[in-house]
Amino acid sequence: MSHAAVLALGSNLGDREQIIRAGIRDIAALPGVVVTGASGLVETPALTLHGIDTDAPTYLNAVLTVRTTLDPHELLHALNGVETEHGRVRNERWGDRTLDIDIIDVDGVVIASDDLTVPHPRAHERAFVLAPWLQIVPDATLPGFGRADALLAATGQTPFDYPAEPLL
Ligand code: ADP
Ligand code: MG
Repeated sequence: MSHAAVLALGSNLGDREQIIRAGIRDIAALPGVVVTGASGLVETPALTLHGIDTDAPTYLNAVLTVRTTLDPHELLHALNGVETEHGRVRNERWGDRTLDIDIIDVDGVVIASDDLTVPHPRAHERAFVLAPWLQIVPDATLPGFGRADALLAATGQTPFDYPAEPLL
C-alpha cells in the first residue's frame, strides 16, 4: 500500500536554501519514501502568532510531492527526525526555525488525531504553501477546502519567486 503525500518545507534561519536542499535529500533518503516532484523556492516575511514580523528573517518555502509506503503517522515521525537533524529546536510555536516540514495532504483523505491533522489546518490560508504546490500540481485540491488556485486567490497574497537552481 503506498500513499501520495504533499509536504511543505520552510526555513528562516541560517543558509535557508542549503538547509531546504539538505532536507529534501534527507527526505529522499528515508526508507519507503520517494520524492516525485519539487516546486521552486518562494520567499515571504515571517508570520508569527502576533502577525507579520518584519524584524524576523524572511522565510524560504518549497513544496514536495512524495510517494511512500509509510503510514501518515510513520511519515510524520520520520519527518520530525529530519527536522531535528537540521537543528530544529521546538520552543515557541511558529517561532524562527532552521527547518519546518509539514504534511499538507495524504491521498486527499482527512485525518484528525492528537498529533496529526490532515489536510494541514493552516495550509488553505498559506500562499507560501498553495503557490508552490500549484507550480507542480496545477489542479491541486485540499479536502474540505476546495481547489488550491481558488484558495490562493482568496489569500490575496503572491509569494515572491526566489531564483535558484531546480531543487530536484
Ligand atoms: P507549525 O508547523 O504549525 O509552525 P510545528 O512545526 O511546531 O508547528 O508543529 C507542531 C506540531 O504539529 C507537531 O509536533 C505535529 O505533531 C503537529 N502536526 C499536526 N498536524 C501536522 C501536519 N499535518 N504536519 C506536520 N505537523 C503536524
Ligand atoms: Mg511544522
